[in-house]
This record gives sequence, structure tokens and C-alpha cells, in this order.
Amino acid sequence: MTLQLIMLGPPGAGKGTQAGKLADHFDIPHISTGQILRNNKDMETPYGTPRSYIEDGNLVPDEMMIEILEKRLQEDDTDDGYILDGFPRTRPQAVSLADITDIDAVIYLRTSEENILKRLTGRRTCEDCGRTYHIEMNPPPDDDQCESCGGAIVQRADDRESVVRDRLEEYQEKTKPLIEFYREKGTLLEIDGNPSIEEVWTQLKDRLDDTLDNVDTT
Ligand SMILES: [Zn+2]
Repeated sequence: MTLQLIMLGPPGAGKGTQAGKLADHFDIPHISTGQILRNNKDMETPYGTPRSYIEDGNLVPDEMMIEILEKRLQEDDTDDGYILDGFPRTRPQAVSLADITDIDAVIYLRTSEENILKRLTGRRTCEDCGRTYHIEMNPPPDDDQCESCGGAIVQRADDRESVVRDRLEEYQEKTKPLIEFYREKGTLLEIDGNPSIEEVWTQLKDRLDDTLDNVDTT
């Protein structure tokens, strides 16, 4: 059987981390849309190449994203399934996705706004190697120099409170209808994204095992 999954949730909910754990556990590829766009910058599509959009700082059109994704889902490593991270982000994208593949479960990491603000605004990142710290959970050294490479540890513009609030607002507006879409389809698996990474992972694994057991017996 296959395990074709989607990871949903607000920015800062830990989607990438949990998707990575799922990929390792079930031995399926973690398909992040950011990554496949970077890997296919020069792919020719009827809408041009992704590069032209990325370099102008624009989002690639939905039709282009679907085309790149469809090609990725045809690769051999997806025979047992995959975990999609970063797509779909809107209801129209989910409708297009349903035309090219079946989805077994949609994991929704429900996380409070307060927690997201704390996680993202507390994050500090090394300018040189990208290593991340957190002012409370994993504080940077006193001299603000990265322990891996000696680079400067800074707060990324994306993680400033006003920017995080804007990102959350955009998420509410566009992604919330998507959650309703999958809830109506009966594929939504709601997970509390507020506890620690390990606690969220345990919950997620248990719920997914239960769902798979139910699928097996019907
Ligand atoms: Zn560094």
C-alpha cells in the first residue's frame, strides 16, 4: 500500500521537522516545494521557467507548480508514497492537486498564535551557515558568534514580529479554507502542534498508525 500525505499548518508549526521524521520513519520522500523549485529552476513549462519568477521575487503560478510537482511524483522513489510540505497552500491548489494524485491523509499541525509568535520571533540564525538558535529554548553564545562556523547570529527579517503577524494573517486567509476542504473530504488528521517536537511526533505517529489500521480492515 502507499502512504500519500500532506503536511499543513501555520508558519512556525514545525511542518518541516515533522515531515522529515515521517519520511525517515516510513521511508518515503519528503517533498518540499521550496526544494523542488530550487532543483528545477530551469525546467521549461508552457508558463516559462521557474527562474524568471523566483529571481523577480514572485510566487510561481499554480499551473507551473502543479506541472513540476506532477513530474516529481512520477519518480521511482514515490512508489510507496510521499509527504508533501509547502503545497497546497490554497483551496484552488488543492483542487488541482486532486486531479493528479490521490491523498491518503492530510496532517494538520494545529498551533496557537501565541506559540508561533514565541517560536518565530525568538529564532536567531547564523548568517553564514544557517544554523538556528532560539533565545529561550536554545540560546546563542554570549558573543553572538555561531558555534559551527563563527558567523554572525542575527534575527532574519522574516522572523520580526510585524512580519510574522503578516505571514499569519495571510495564512489565516488562504490556508484556513483549505483545512475545511480536507475536513469535508474526511482525510484531515488534526494534531496538537503546541507541545515539544518529540511529543508532537509521538502523537502523530500513533494517530497515523491507527488510521492505517482502519484502512487495512475496511
Ligand atoms: Zn554558522
